[in-house]
Amino acid sequence: MPIATVNPANGETLETYEALSPDALEEKLALAARTFAAYRTTVFEERARMMRHAADLLDADTPEIARTMTLEMGKPIKAARAEAAKCARTMRWYADHAQELLAPERPAESDVKDSGAARAEVRYRPLGPVLAVMPWNFPLWQVVRFAAPALMAGNVGLLKHASNVPQTALYLEDLFLRAGFPEGCFQTLLIGSGAVEGVLRDERVVAATLTGSEPAGRSVASVAGDEVKKTVLELGGSDPYVVMPSADVAKAAKTAVTARTQNNGQSCIAAKRFIVHEDVFEEFREAFVEGMRALKVGDPLDEETDIGPLASEQGRKDLEELVDEAVESGATVLCGGRRPKDFDRHGWFYEPTVLADITPEMRIHREETFGPVATLYRVTGLDAAIELANDTPFGLSSNLWTGDAEEIERFARDSQAGGVFVNGMTASHPALPFGGNKRSGYGRELSGHGIKEFCDITTVWIG
Ligand code: NAP
Repeated sequence: MPIATVNPANGETLETYEALSPDALEEKLALAARTFAAYRTTVFEERARMMRHAADLLDADTPEIARTMTLEMGKPIKAARAEAAKCARTMRWYADHAQELLAPERPAESDVKDSGAARAEVRYRPLGPVLAVMPWNFPLWQVVRFAAPALMAGNVGLLKHASNVPQTALYLEDLFLRAGFPEGCFQTLLIGSGAVEGVLRDERVVAATLTGSEPAGRSVASVAGDEVKKTVLELGGSDPYVVMPSADVAKAAKTAVTARTQNNGQSCIAAKRFIVHEDVFEEFREAFVEGMRALKVGDPLDEETDIGPLASEQGRKDLEELVDEAVESGATVLCGGRRPKDFDRHGWFYEPTVLADITPEMRIHREETFGPVATLYRVTGLDAAIELANDTPFGLSSNLWTGDAEEIERFARDSQAGGVFVNGMTASHPALPFGGNKRSGYGRELSGHGIKEFCDITTVWIG
């Protein structure tokens, strides 16, 4: 894949970049190692000051960087601005909380005595240069959610961003430099995915985090496993969205539209499978389809646009194939199911789509739909809903709409996902851990759990 900015709204190539030469890559790795040796001993107050400065700069840069993101991957401009604001909030959150999250832990006095120590504590020390392999769908957010905790913990970051968002990738390196972080604290490596293995096998790189598809995750995790290096994987999702009779159905249907189509439907935590109790199925279906039909598809730079193009031509082709195959096998199209008709744009647009009458044999039943396509299922009760919700290789997040406290407890106990969101859509927050299980990956980002992923948990025992 060339490293280039190609506007998905019209297919026009705006910028192309040469991949780093082996010598330039070596310089960056050497710089990361040198910088870590000094940066690891900086104090939290100093890191926090720079992180807050980065947040302020990002706020000031928002109009410009939001436009860059929209031109690189097609998200609606208002969503791009919201993404930048969320990144700044998260930077400030880690600036405020890192020290307390990583404070040394002291076991109970009786246990310390029992271990034979006069004093014992657990410290969280930084690991070193961490490689971050990141996707294009939230080109700022995915990186910041790694970089803010990693830098606050005293690590240094090496970013291999997706090949279609090089300008956003370069902006991030520049942002941390302007904020005062020492050169080498956060570097962007303009390299293709074929060069990732070499970087990961380099002894100066101590760990990796990857957000992206299952094949990419498998590849990075197997190389890291071979090198005995820690990884965090945030992979795909096919989140269920269960609606029970006691729910506020109108609100559930309205939120469902946003939950499915945020970021042009290209979000790992988008609700993708809508599982509705038969007593409220018709009411939900009608409101949901109406809401999906009402969305405005168009130029993502237009303030009024709800749905822009998919990020790549291949992404639209993959989505079309999933839909077409399902329809050929008997799925019913309730809306969409095609490229916008009579549309004078050459970009990679696809209509918001709802499909019903899905059967387990269809590929769409088990695979992730990375675009504005929802599948709708009718169930007879909570048992059937949970069974269907869990009938997926993924386990990222899950949603339940109900007014029944017992149903909430059942779902929170039995949903096989890293997140359970009730009467609202899944969204990440810096204070709450984020991540999945099954084929959605392992490890957690955000909160205290996220910042500790790339720390050495060190036992200090003093006799
Ligand atoms: P992708 O193809 O896996 O790309 C993600 C990153 O991995 C890119 O930087 C890519 O580089 C790199 N990459 C691809 N193959 C690789 C390999 N074999 N070895 C090393 N690096 C490799 O994913 P995508 O299609 O861009 O993103 C969509 C997927 O990401 C979806 O499945 C989505 O659900 C998932 N996702 C998950 C989360 C989460 O938090 N769980 C968040 C967002 C997205 P190139 O661009 O150079 O190929």
